[in-house]
Amino acid sequence: MQLDAMYQEIILDHYRNPHHKGLRDPHDAEAHHINPTCGDEVTLRVRLAPESGAELDEKAIVSDVSYEGMGCSISQASTSVLTDLLIGKSVDEGMRTLDAFTEMMQSKGKGEPDEDVLEDAVAFVGVSKYPARIKCALLGWMAWKDAVSQSLDKEGA
Ligand code: ZN
Repeated sequence: MQLDAMYQEIILDHYRNPHHKGLRDPHDAEAHHINPTCGDEVTLRVRLAPESGAELDEKAIVSDVSYEGMGCSISQASTSVLTDLLIGKSVDEGMRTLDAFTEMMQSKGKGEPDEDVLEDAVAFVGVSKYPARIKCALLGWMAWKDAVSQSLDKEGA
């Protein structure tokens, strides 16, 4: 099977059978992001678990990511993929994964993403050739970053 076809299959599979979908409690913060050019929407919640006895900071573990969304297959599949990738990581590792994903989306199709870091998210490398679709792929990730920042701010307040 061609790599492009395999990547297409990964995206469609996450779209048809989304992982961790549905809003759950408890959660620390929620973010609602929209992509008006495509009509995509995602509402995403995060739950962070501090290191024992510590305050919530970049070492906290992302213990849950839940979401509801509607829109194109790219936006919805990308959000499903990120829940697999980010649940169980520390905030710090999650932010590095986000950076790797963002970098791949800016690669205009020429990126050579690290599959050890990005796992199923490498399937979106082809999307980076289509400027109009990049926001679709990034939608859930931006909502995740927003919700994590809110969680950490709340703690510091
Ligand atoms: Zn879209």
